[in-house]
Amino acid sequence: MAQVNDYNTRVKPNWCPGCGNFAVWTSLKQTLVDLNLEPHQVVVTYDIGCSGNGADKLNTYALKSLHGRTIPPAVGAKLANPDLTVISTGGDGGIMEEGVNHLMWAARSNYDITVFLHNNQRFALTTGQQTVTTKKGEPGKTAPRGIPEDSIVPAHVALISKASFVARGFGGDPAQLVTLMKSAIKHKGFSFLEIVQPCVTLNKINTFDWFRERIYKLEEKKDYDNSNWHKALEVSQDMEENIATGILYEDKHSIPYSDRLSHRKDSKTKLVDEVKAYSIDGYIEEFV
Ligand code: SF4
Repeated sequence: MAQVNDYNTRVKPNWCPGCGNFAVWTSLKQTLVDLNLEPHQVVVTYDIGCSGNGADKLNTYALKSLHGRTIPPAVGAKLANPDLTVISTGGDGGIMEEGVNHLMWAARSNYDITVFLHNNQRFALTTGQQTVTTKKGEPGKTAPRGIPEDSIVPAHVALISKASFVARGFGGDPAQLVTLMKSAIKHKGFSFLEIVQPCVTLNKINTFDWFRERIYKLEEKKDYDNSNWHKALEVSQDMEENIATGILYEDKHSIPYSDRLSHRKDSKTKLVDEVKAYSIDGYIEEFV
């Protein structure tokens, strides 16, 4: 059985001291151990960005994508080999800006993958420009007087895109993060976990203390019913005063994309078993 150390590589993290990525990295290793998964059973895809720099720091199969494209290779890996546990990670810049179309399509298709979105409200790797999750008017590198647009809430976008599992965690609460990661990975269908995490170097507004003063846990609200999509839509939106964490929504009867394909219902093989070598000589000859 794998231990936490089995998920380490020889590369030590070089994130800034106090970065929220440490909690996510540590929590994910603990989650995979708790789920009795071995490193060779897991694929993690990464975006460009500070979170993406974790690609060589976690001992699983890994793929580092182009900016905003962390979700498509994760979908491909899962469709090819459904036995794998497939996790796609990225920041608010990559997934909510360049790649938001991929998030919406993967959610509505209900591919059986898990997406972890690191939301620190900045393009951190490129030194702190605003993203779509930055509050309107907040100063930053791209716009010193603040951006004029309203911000977008990732969990809200996942919900309206029909994700069958949507949760929010906090980089300052690794114990809750492990619980949420386990639930997200075990969910059958598309699961989305937004992780609000301070960028301690470039975002001096949304700090650990700022979040701690505003965050509450849905699991402590006895009357919260996370099968109620409309209620989830309502509570997910507030990112300023009362920030909900926990499982916002789960469709426990969700049917993943692959299980909806009637023509593959009785298939004895996985797509990865059916890959064959094809000669393209004939096509090349047409062009020469
Ligand atoms: Fe983390 Fe921000 Fe440093 Fe990047 S710049 S490693 S997000 S604290």
